[in-house]
Amino acid sequence: MAPAPGKNCGACTMCCTALEIPELNKAAGPACPNCLASGGCAIYASRPQVCRDFECEWLTDRTLSPQLRPDRVGTILMEADDTDEYRAVSAPGRPLAWRHPMVFAHLVRVAKSGRTVVAKAGLSSWRIFASGEWGPTV
Ligand code: SF4
Ligand code: SF4
Repeated sequence: MAPAPGKNCGACTMCCTALEIPELNKAAGPACPNCLASGGCAIYASRPQVCRDFECEWLTDRTLSPQLRPDRVGTILMEADDTDEYRAVSAPGRPLAWRHPMVFAHLVRVAKSGRTVVAKAGLSSWRIFASGEWGPTV
């Protein structure tokens, strides 16, 4: 899927930090060693396929506002690749960043549409319900 009109990653490098990337032996939290301080990737032309394939929901969904860019709210909105969950992934250093009012309101809207919505930060995860309630997954 292509980025939505007017959308680009800009200074955001959240997916290169907050996500676990087994292909790079990278844990969730620390920045990938190829991540440039000025933004972008030091090995952009030869970056692994997993990096080429990843696009977060903010980038591809034209309805998500500029304020929801992942680095601005500390949370990546994304489809899980192994389940049908809609996910909000925050950096382990800011584990409750997904409680940002704009992010949380969006997550409740998605839950109301019938999706299973889960927030994650490192090894911790929480389920968000259509009622606006939330709690740790078991
Ligand atoms: S999290 Fe989304 S907006 Fe940020 S760098 Fe990754 S794909 Fe781009
Ligand atoms: S290799 Fe580049 S695109 Fe992939 S996680 Fe590292 S910095 Fe990001």
